[in-house]
Amino acid sequence: MRMTLPLPPHKFIDIAFNATDSMFKGVYHGKPRHPDDLHDVLLRSKAAGVSTCILTGGSLSESQEALELAEKHGVYSTVGLHPTRSNEMEEDPVGYLAALDALISKGKKGGKGKGRVVAIGECGLDYDRLHFCPSSIQKTHFLSQLSLARTHSLPLFLHSRAAHRDFIDILRSRSEDWKARGGVVHSFTGTKEEMEEILELDRSLFVGINGCSLKTEEGLEMVRGIPLERLMLETDSPYCTPTTSHASHAHLITLPPTLAALYSPTSSNKPDKFKAGEAVKGRMEPSGIGRVAWVVAKVKGVEMEVVVKAVWENTVRMFGLEEEEEEEVSDV
Ligand SMILES: [Zn+2]
Repeated sequence: MRMTLPLPPHKFIDIAFNATDSMFKGVYHGKPRHPDDLHDVLLRSKAAGVSTCILTGGSLSESQEALELAEKHGVYSTVGLHPTRSNEMEEDPVGYLAALDALISKGKKGGKGKGRVVAIGECGLDYDRLHFCPSSIQKTHFLSQLSLARTHSLPLFLHSRAAHRDFIDILRSRSEDWKARGGVVHSFTGTKEEMEEILELDRSLFVGINGCSLKTEEGLEMVRGIPLERLMLETDSPYCTPTTSHASHAHLITLPPTLAALYSPTSSNKPDKFKAGEAVKGRMEPSGIGRVAWVVAKVKGVEMEVVVKAVWENTVRMFGLEEEEEEEVSDV
């Protein structure tokens, strides 16, 4: 039976959904706790107004899986190698890059697949987690992936942690590779000055904000300074769940009950007390993007609708998505 659900009040695109994470298969820290519930997660997200998502690819195999899921569920994906996993490319850098290249060719618009690959990444630098991969190796493979943006004329999906100087230097030195399509520095948790330096590099660059960006007062201050025309929103699910100890909490308690119920990405059910069709305690899901938007609007002192509309336009334009502003939300 096909039924029509009430239209959600706001429409979102979650640009960072780690749908390949084992938690959506019900596996936590290597232990199976409940059945795969990705389909239900996506249904709840639709009901909350998340029109589409971009599934993050963090390695060759993960990018393959993300693309398969994106094609299956009619959403989008990225293809690339995360800085903390750059070691994977060491054994055969040329072969690995060629394999990423082939996957992008197949998955992007005009390729043999369904045209679901919309960005190169996630790639970048992460000096918070050098125990996974030293900075020299991270830099090498960040640089090699930048060439993919140019080859395929796709935007970059970027990650930068505690590596601001090197990150800026590399982007600046290779701007001819990415300026045409730009990119988004996702899950941004840097300072206001760092945010400004990124945005000053080129007007094709954007900053992606999620629950982790809104943890501290400094984070809120940084978000206040992002021009609306350079902002994107995301959840980074299953990570970056807003909690009561975050600075964002003071704003989230003002969320009207109807919206709080709609944007309710977690529940009191721990993974081993899983209830089919319900969210899981501590596991973020795309339906929570409305909470991120609410806090951003409060911090900026504007209506939520103003934030949502600007972010929608930025996202559709930069990624070249074919999403309609008005559509009926129904079950799938
Ligand atoms: Zn990231």
